[in-house]
Amino acid sequence: MNIILLGPPGAGKGTQAKRLVEKYGIPQISTGDMLRAALKEGTPLGLEAKKYMDQGALVPDSVVIGLVKERIQKPDCAKGFMLDGFPRNVSQAEALDATLSELSQKIDHVVCMEVANEELLERLTGRRTCRSCGAGYHVRFDPPKKEGVCDQCGGELYQRDDDNEATVSSRLKVYDDQTKPLIDYYSKQGKLRAVDGVGSMDEIFSRITAVLG
Ligand code: AMP
Repeated sequence: MNIILLGPPGAGKGTQAKRLVEKYGIPQISTGDMLRAALKEGTPLGLEAKKYMDQGALVPDSVVIGLVKERIQKPDCAKGFMLDGFPRNVSQAEALDATLSELSQKIDHVVCMEVANEELLERLTGRRTCRSCGAGYHVRFDPPKKEGVCDQCGGELYQRDDDNEATVSSRLKVYDDQTKPLIDYYSKQGKLRAVDGVGSMDEIFSRITAVLG
């Protein structure tokens, strides 16, 4: 099963993807995570991507399309994959369709997680992540027992560089302008499965698994 998780930044795509991976046994492919990993390693691609990420802008299509094309052909994708944060515009979606068609594959479901813009700003600016184990927290909705310290491993919690208020506003605008047209793109293909992204993690997980069948 090949799935796309669509939705604005802060809709909870990454959180749900991690749980869906366990249930369906297919890998999560997050272009944001791949770019952050490249940046951490200090590769030329990572350093180039940072310029765009810091502004809340999209990294050039050629870069992310190349990453995804290579990734979906790895052996662990044989039973399917879950794309999180890709495609982000119509050109990327068209490139993905063309690649999948060359591989005699297709996208089965596009899960669109819906959350109002006003809520996203608070969700994103309050996000914190553990530097050691990657566990996610929120200063208001899911705080750690001790401020700045991971409950699971004692690691240091940090805020993503692009989760500050100015960059978040740009990212939300980019979503509205460039990514939202994908709702129409995949509706026309009969693949869009809209899911209410407001509620507890368990509620949202059940809604997603219900539409995936
Ligand atoms: P994310 O972790 O998905 O919120 O992505 C963080 C940032 O990485 C975005 O604001 C973009 O700068 C960049 N990025 C991630 N995925 C893509 C993509 N599919 N196309 C272009 N830029 C991307």
